[in-house]
Amino acid sequence: MDPKQLAPVLSNVTASADKLAACPTVKEALAAILRDEKITLADQIAITEVEAPPFHEDERAKDLMRRFQALGLTDVTIDQEGNVIARRPGTGNGPTLVLGAHLDTVFPAGTDVRVREENGIYHAPGISDDARGLAVILQVLRTMQEKNIQTVGDICFVCTVGEEGNGDLRGSKHLFLKSGMKIDGFISVDGVDVGRLLCAATGSKRYRVHFDGPGGHSWKNYGYPSAIHAMGRAIAKIADVHPCEEPRTTFTCGTIGGGTTVNSIAAHCEMELDMRSAGGKELEEIEAQILPLIQAACDEENARWGAEGDLAVKLTLEPIGHRPGGQQSDESSVLQAARAAMNELGIELKKYDAASTDHNIAIHCGIPATTLGGGGAEGFNHNVKEWYDPKDGYLGAQLAFLTSLLLVGMQGVADPLLPKRD
Ligand SMILES: [Zn+2]
Repeated sequence: MDPKQLAPVLSNVTASADKLAACPTVKEALAAILRDEKITLADQIAITEVEAPPFHEDERAKDLMRRFQALGLTDVTIDQEGNVIARRPGTGNGPTLVLGAHLDTVFPAGTDVRVREENGIYHAPGISDDARGLAVILQVLRTMQEKNIQTVGDICFVCTVGEEGNGDLRGSKHLFLKSGMKIDGFISVDGVDVGRLLCAATGSKRYRVHFDGPGGHSWKNYGYPSAIHAMGRAIAKIADVHPCEEPRTTFTCGTIGGGTTVNSIAAHCEMELDMRSAGGKELEEIEAQILPLIQAACDEENARWGAEGDLAVKLTLEPIGHRPGGQQSDESSVLQAARAAMNELGIELKKYDAASTDHNIAIHCGIPATTLGGGGAEGFNHNVKEWYDPKDGYLGAQLAFLTSLLLVGMQGVADPLLPKRD
């Protein structure tokens, strides 16, 4: 969506932001974030150099736990799934905001994660995604501690596991769906562009589809159904699907594999199917449309040869990913607070769109949520050539700080904008 078409920020939100921005302690805090730029960057480098391969984030989790404790938090735990949860209490009875970033990288164990600096640009796998986010939430905490900022609501600083790829958001799924923790709002710091505000969550469903048949010799057993022919029929049907355009909904058969030799009727083959949508209902609809096509294709292949029982090609659907998605109102407190903070900091809102991140699960649960950029510039994410440019990076930490403060409120200065859920 074009951010220029958005209605202006609600007047009560702007009024709160103005009160905070005029408060001398908040002014000092924003100045401290600018002054601490090098400390934030040093944290980011140190965190990058602690490996966090998919499903093995524990070492980095312990490192973050120590950092939260060193900044004076006493209520710091690692939950069953491996998320680090560090609570900074408010005055009591206020809302709870989770300010998060993800621990995991996409890089396997043994990857060289040492950071190399060249002409002010920092190079290392994971230096930006999401070591920047982790360093930013630490900086927000450091500033609140140093300036003795008493918030009304609690802020839980959470470092999640499993945000990337096959991690399938397992950390945030645990946090929002299983942990029983009371959470009223969620901000993830991921990516670096401070002019980008994520308002919706792209959902996805992924399957590995296995086709298994009798197999056989292409000449002697001619007349048996083929796993590959069944899959070919399925792909042809899927390729002709027209999903809805608004909210954007997409699909692809991303990979295929299988067969034995050129002169064998294929006994086995498989494909990976990806379906995505910016709408929750539309994701269910595209799935409900595509899965029966695969079964129909299989049935047609069996009918073509009159194959039944052991001679028939059979299907197995293996779910390999489910990221629920959804949308929220432009008046969501978290989106409003972020936009008001951007206005105060002179950051222009350039992109207002959907993506698939830790905020998916919160939005799916009806919790106001967004993802903010951590500041600076980045390139080659998910590649060992990943780089980070810290120029103006402090804006990311200032944005996360001010947005959080607006949401949980500051005692004697501004009430929390974040409503408490029951
Ligand atoms: Zn990320």
